[in-house]
Amino acid sequence: MIILGSTGSIGVNTLIMAKKFNLKIEVLTANKNVDLLNKQIKKFNPKFVVIGSKNLRKQVNHKKVFFGGEGILEVLNLAKSKLVVNALVGFAGLKPTLEAIKLNKKIALANKESLVVGGKFVDTSNIFPIDSEHFGLWYLLNDKKPKKMIITASGGAFRDTPLDELKNVTISEALNHPNWSMGQKITIDSATMTNKLFELLEAKWLFNIKKLDAIIETKSLIHALIDFKDGSSTAHIATANMQLPIAYAVNKKIKTQIVKPVDLVKVGGLEFREIKKDRYAIWEIKDDILKNPHLGVIVNSANEIAVEKFLQKKIGFLDISKITLKAYQKFHNVKPLSIEEIFIIDKEVRKFTQK
Ligand code: NAD
Ligand code: MG
Repeated sequence: MIILGSTGSIGVNTLIMAKKFNLKIEVLTANKNVDLLNKQIKKFNPKFVVIGSKNLRKQVNHKKVFFGGEGILEVLNLAKSKLVVNALVGFAGLKPTLEAIKLNKKIALANKESLVVGGKFVDTSNIFPIDSEHFGLWYLLNDKKPKKMIITASGGAFRDTPLDELKNVTISEALNHPNWSMGQKITIDSATMTNKLFELLEAKWLFNIKKLDAIIETKSLIHALIDFKDGSSTAHIATANMQLPIAYAVNKKIKTQIVKPVDLVKVGGLEFREIKKDRYAIWEIKDDILKNPHLGVIVNSANEIAVEKFLQKKIGFLDISKITLKAYQKFHNVKPLSIEEIFIIDKEVRKFTQK
């Protein structure tokens, strides 16, 4: 298979699953982490490799090294594998998703931003989600007709922080996720709850369902719930470990234990909370964006800029959502009519947000 973003949190876990199931790796890609990429090349012997920029090419120990976003697209065309794991982060993941669809490859999609920004124009029939909540929904669905789908959130790094302290929190505090170990961007997105907003959009495009919501479950043991018409509900319970969704995404027939079973007696109790907009300002637009899911591109582009500025210490934590909401208002009337327009809108929103 092809692994895009092999040096990231999802990429590394995918390689662990590849080893477990004896799957061959045809392509590995990394943005800047040459050291880890070289180790992965030695261990998995891929046919093609892609690194983020031309000047890093010489440091990569491989005969066929491509570079940049174009390099990823080239390699997708050269590779014979029918399965692509897209574990890139951010808008950069969209073009590879579109290219893989064009090439009729199956996509194990961790890059939720592809659907958040372009969902309206992305054919999801060959996509299997690598996201614990959507995997949970898929697991629960089982050909039954759902009434409502609910995904859970951990509440992120600041779920218990007094509200008046939020404006002064630091980067390392924001990166200290209570339950999951993930890449920087998604960890910040969890602290602001933007990640859950993205996942509602992701669920909308994947399952084509109107009734969707999210609640906080503080232990991240329940990942998804489905309400049925008869008044009953099911919940998907599993240890917080991405290897489970990844295992199903790369190898449909799972017959062995992938994660440690949850011992409910040891867990003792679970706590559920409502997601409130006084703590998570972005939640203000939840209902509106579910009615206007084509606006995902606005939230994503503005959020990418704002998160970057926060990580550069140029803005405070609360400014991330403030800036994103401002862009959302400014571009609220935008109606993309094609995937090409998504790229134009993305650029415009970035320009506005930078200012
Ligand atoms: P990460 O930051 O750990 O890894 C990102 C990978 O993409 C790295 O290999 C990096 O080298 C590469 N990359 C980054 N920017 C790039 C660019 N511009 N061009 C080419 N390559 C680039 O991120 P992650 O936590 O593994 O998340 C990856 C995706 O999966 C994100 O969309 C995230 O929302 C989603 N996701 C992650 C988790 C998780 O547990 N980590 C869970 C669900 C969904
Ligand atoms: Mg998730």
